[in-house]
Amino acid sequence: MLSVDEKLQPILSEVIRRNAGEQEFHQAVREVLESLGRVIGKRPAYADNALIERICEPERQIIFRVPWTDDQGNVQINRGFRVQFNSALGPYKGGIRFHPSVNVGIIKFLGFEQTFKNALTGMPLGGGKGGSDFNPRGRSDGEIMRFCQSFMSELYRHIGEYTDVPAGDIGVGSREIGYLFGQYKRLTNRYEAGVLTGKALFYGGSRARREATGYGSTYFVQRMLETRGRSFDGSRVVVSGSGNVAIYTMEKVAQFGGKIMACSDSNGYVIDENGIDLDLVKEIKEAQRERISEYARRKGTGSHYIDGGCIWDVPCDIAMPSATQNELTGRDAKKLIENGVIAVGEGANMPSTPDAVRLFQEAGVLFAPGKAANAGGVATSALEMQQNASRDSWTFDQTEKRLAQIMENIHDTCAATADEYGAPGDYVLGANIAGFVRVAEAMDALGVI
Ligand code: GLU
Repeated sequence: MLSVDEKLQPILSEVIRRNAGEQEFHQAVREVLESLGRVIGKRPAYADNALIERICEPERQIIFRVPWTDDQGNVQINRGFRVQFNSALGPYKGGIRFHPSVNVGIIKFLGFEQTFKNALTGMPLGGGKGGSDFNPRGRSDGEIMRFCQSFMSELYRHIGEYTDVPAGDIGVGSREIGYLFGQYKRLTNRYEAGVLTGKALFYGGSRARREATGYGSTYFVQRMLETRGRSFDGSRVVVSGSGNVAIYTMEKVAQFGGKIMACSDSNGYVIDENGIDLDLVKEIKEAQRERISEYARRKGTGSHYIDGGCIWDVPCDIAMPSATQNELTGRDAKKLIENGVIAVGEGANMPSTPDAVRLFQEAGVLFAPGKAANAGGVATSALEMQQNASRDSWTFDQTEKRLAQIMENIHDTCAATADEYGAPGDYVLGANIAGFVRVAEAMDALGVI
């Protein structure tokens, strides 16, 4: 297991001092710095001009009040965030998360990860992230709309097709993107389709964007399995979560011949001996916005809901954590390893704790980090931006083919980088270094910015 090189240790200490209490951000920075020791050993120029220090400091952080009126007529206040992390490679790009756990540290960790993820796609995208501590659960459609309108009433002055292009994340899907876009259009009097991605098809969205994150991580893992002569076909797969990423991971895994053993939400998980029935999950989660416990209630025989249980206790060959950060701990990793897991593909952002990652790597489990494996979502956002810029609309097939190529490329870049830096098969190191080098080269070329 790597530790932070002594030359980089002061950078980490400074990040911790300057961003006190922001644990997820410290965790994300530490993990990248652990990989960079090998880079500065090989290319010392990358440590010049405080380049790494600059990469760890967001370009701009915006925090704002979001007042809105609930259905009872009470005024509610939430906090809104947009962290514009790095624009060396293109306009800031990254999702918006609505979840009660959101704070500046979480948005910073996500924006930091996003910068390297976006670099790995090879597309002209900077990195950013935004969100609010607003809890959409149980809110009416009208409340969601008024919240989105108020959020955009501040955000609109900081974003734009060439400036910063938000999209969805946890709690923000195409309904919310619609309300956000409507308000942006109204405030600016511009039909600027490329200002947001994840739009519905009929007003400038891209085919396959909804499926892209889950399909993409499945393509990544499939290629990673191939390096060991394995595949999804006939394997048992556990996918945590039941939101957008999890649903389309399950769909693609099933197309590749895998059997989905279980999926979950933040309250518990469901198992189904016959394999999870994806149409039912879609009906419950996408159409009715209900809890996953509904699955067992409606399905009956063969399926069980375990309230408060840990989904990683379910034996599987391949684990795809697709819910949220730090959802898979060292204890869970041990359990998965005992049960014979051969591969882990992160659909969520940083779902495995550092302990879990270390245990998987020590046990020789193939491990695909989120910033590489889940890059298909943002890559397809870039394809949406291309279609918006050229006033074009591609077919599903055409878009999915591009996505598949991009994911294969990201996989191969990570694998080749890991080889080049003396750590074959270490996708964490490969992703961190390949992402970093692309951002670093651009920053270096642009002067001290
Ligand atoms: N929220 C997604 C991510 O974590 C997608 C971002 C985007 O499409 O801009 O990468």
